Amino acid sequence: MNAGEHHHTGPHAPPAPGPALTLMSGGDVREGWCTACKAYSRLTGPVLLLTPGGVATAGTWSWCAICEDPQEAPRA
Ligand SMILES: [Zn+2]
Repeated sequence: MNAGEHHHTGPHAPPAPGPALTLMSGGDVREGWCTACKAYSRLTGPVLLLTPGGVATAGTWSWCAICEDPQEAPRA
């Protein structure tokens, strides 16, 4: 009998990836120039990525109050 020859369960299992990533907007929101509206109606801010290791900047978001007016959204 070769007991112990084959191990089905390893001693070190990989850590289960948890849903710990969270995207949120940072507090450093600034007004920006919208080339479509030709006005400072665009807001830009950092997108913070919350990970178990800390907070990282994932990118930037931008939103124009005129181009992307929420009132223009179709009614459901
Ligand atoms: Zn715009």
